[in-house]
Amino acid sequence: MRHRFTLGQQIGHWTIIGLPDGEPEHKNKIRCRCVCGTIRWIYRQTLTNGTSRSCGCRRHERANAQQIAGKEKGKRVISSIHQAHLAPKYAGFGRKVNRNSTTGVPGVSLIPTSSKSAPPRYRAQINVNGKQIHLGCFESLEDAKQARKAAEQHYFKEKAQKAAHIKENTKGDKS
Ligand SMILES: [Zn+2]
Repeated sequence: MRHRFTLGQQIGHWTIIGLPDGEPEHKNKIRCRCVCGTIRWIYRQTLTNGTSRSCGCRRHERANAQQIAGKEKGKRVISSIHQAHLAPKYAGFGRKVNRNSTTGVPGVSLIPTSSKSAPPRYRAQINVNGKQIHLGCFESLEDAKQARKAAEQHYFKEKAQKAAHIKENTKGDKS
């Protein structure tokens, strides 16, 4: 059975202001006014099943509220991270990876050679507490990458886990 609509009826943020007028293009549609004043023909089915609650203005408000909550949470995570003497990068914030200009891989650089015919060699290194640690020289970029990855695991795993823990345990709202 068809849902009956009446003038003045409110569905979500819509108020029904007109019923089908026989125009083919308004078939199965109801004339509605949103709380914001927007007037549209809305499919009756989207009104009855709750898909359409407003012209979109209210949905936007909700999205903004979520974005604000997300930002607030981010701020709290960062302040907790700082309190734990960790860098925000371990929690995935301010992820500004310093890519090496010669290889594009962080911590891996192409070793300059004297002749153009010499095969390429790569140096891997990692910065720990402001100290540059040399990880070795490699003939393949992949090996250098692996060495750098292993070093990241070795030196930063604990920090990354602590940061992940803080991130997981920070609530999305202030309550
Ligand atoms: Zn609206």
